[in-house]
Amino acid sequence: MTGPFKLAPLPYVDAALEPTISARTISFHYYKHHQAYVDTLNTLVEKTPFADMKLEKIVQATAKAAGDKEKKIFNNAGQVWNHDFYWRSLSPSKTTPKGALAAAIERDFGGVDALIAQLAEAGKTQFGSGWAWLVSQGGKLSVTKTANAMTPMADGINCLLTVDVWEHAYYLDYQNARPKYLETVLANILNWDYASANLARENEAVRAAAE
Ligand code: MN
Repeated sequence: MTGPFKLAPLPYVDAALEPTISARTISFHYYKHHQAYVDTLNTLVEKTPFADMKLEKIVQATAKAAGDKEKKIFNNAGQVWNHDFYWRSLSPSKTTPKGALAAAIERDFGGVDALIAQLAEAGKTQFGSGWAWLVSQGGKLSVTKTANAMTPMADGINCLLTVDVWEHAYYLDYQNARPKYLETVLANILNWDYASANLARENEAVRAAAE
């Protein structure tokens, strides 16, 4: 299958997130589900103006679309972006919040444990498929959740981390125990360095706009 969009490389080997997320889950979640969103998106955008647009722009342009074709494009473009963001939100090696991120977490949540509790709650209470997010707006951190393929990025909100709570993310390893999946991921494999870089990017943009 050829097309403008490619499956971004997984930023670690398939077994790197074990025992929290098995290589078997990766074999379906990354190589089948994520790949399928890329392939479907490429098919849907063929011979449309979307074929020449950046992925982020497609997501933002179709997020509130009314037409069936555009809704399908949104669902697949959103899922391509969300999954790429999710893989980068996870780390095989232990990371901890540092510097400006650690200070913002302390200020906005009262500490990392309270933030993790909010992320867990967001993921547990997302009815059906979706995503739990740590986001920043003007440097202020908050937790939110989205359904299906939706992403805060569609509204121009800066994303720091996400956790996939679609059943395909956890069913092979945790069966129906979404809370256990969330607690294990949040305690062990969140990539706080990625969150720091995403926060710095927003702070940099705010600084540049003020100059
Ligand atoms: Mn997924």
